[in-house]
Amino acid sequence: MKKILLIIIDGLGDKPIKQLGNRTPLEAAQTTNLDKLAEKGVCGSVLPFLFPQDKYPTSAGAHIALFGYMNYFLMRGPYEVAGIGMKMKEGDVAFRVNFATVDPNLKIIDRRAGRIKQIKPLVKSLSGIKINGVKFLIKESYGHRAGLIMRGKGLSANISRGDPKKVEAKAKKIIPLDKSREAEFTAEVLNKFLEKAHQVLKEHPLNKKRKKQGSLPANYLLVRGAGKFKETPGFKQRYGLKACCVAGGGLYKGVAKILGMDLIKVKRATGFANTNLEGKITAGRNALKKYNFVFLHIKATDTFGHDGDFRGKKKFIEKIDKNLKPLPNLKNVLIVVTADHSTCCSLKRHCKELIPLLICGDGTDGVKEFSEKACQKGKLGKIKQLNLMPEILKLARED
Ligand SMILES: [Zn+2]
Repeated sequence: MKKILLIIIDGLGDKPIKQLGNRTPLEAAQTTNLDKLAEKGVCGSVLPFLFPQDKYPTSAGAHIALFGYMNYFLMRGPYEVAGIGMKMKEGDVAFRVNFATVDPNLKIIDRRAGRIKQIKPLVKSLSGIKINGVKFLIKESYGHRAGLIMRGKGLSANISRGDPKKVEAKAKKIIPLDKSREAEFTAEVLNKFLEKAHQVLKEHPLNKKRKKQGSLPANYLLVRGAGKFKETPGFKQRYGLKACCVAGGGLYKGVAKILGMDLIKVKRATGFANTNLEGKITAGRNALKKYNFVFLHIKATDTFGHDGDFRGKKKFIEKIDKNLKPLPNLKNVLIVVTADHSTCCSLKRHCKELIPLLICGDGTDGVKEFSEKACQKGKLGKIKQLNLMPEILKLARED
């Protein structure tokens, strides 16, 4: 069986853009190496997976679907929390958290507390709080972000979020989303915690100092992405593959960790446009010596999409392409390049456009270019995201 290198270029697919001569950023970009991989391999388009509750594909949902784990989807919180190295226990409810600024009436002034850089002292002041038998664990991620775990008996993740996702609105009270005792209890305890955290943060010396300096105090926690943790059968158990992950973004590291992949550390791998692409791709190649399955995730394409920056997206795709130069010569490796979903620059959000796919290492199909349009002419046709892993495994097993 061949080894598998799966490269996910987040939010890669797009719609044609007038200013790029009615081409998508991928079509407009100079991509010699991706084109070479397409020419040496087979192509197709992936239909994005959506959970019934979603209007558009989400990164967490899409990754879980493409790895074939929909029955184990935990919502976003647990993956984010795992990604920053917090350990969860069965029954924990986990959230992603923004340190934000609110006024005395809890009206949001800034969802990111003036993009505060150092929240460690604030996090420290909140650790170990226990309310009605529920323990709260919190850890910083980067910038204004953190992860939060509620640990105790009888918790539910079926509660609303506290983040209204816009300024000028009031931070939302958490409400239960069903009539169960567990949801009611969880909402009640979490509201108490958020109030307590607000009191602690308001009085924190770091925030007093920030106010004096004219910076916004980080005085409130906006929570979202509630998910209940349960053990997930690992990649090894599920597919018999020893798997690892090379990623900068916390969510992707978290998904990988929960699916039992080892995390490969790469210096200056950030999940932003300044990420160490060369280091990541070298690390991915080297990991193939030890692992059967390498999941390599590149994030910034999606971020450019959210910003509507199609020129930035095109340029970043070209930068990725340059660093893929050594790949077409890999022996006995199935190289898969695709995305989790498309992110449309014109809409500044995830969209349902078909996702380009190339699989190099088992036959060719005449497609010589890696793009949304060209891939539609490929031999693999339209594949549902859920059928991608079986297809990859089938091709990897062929001689
Ligand atoms: Zn994504």
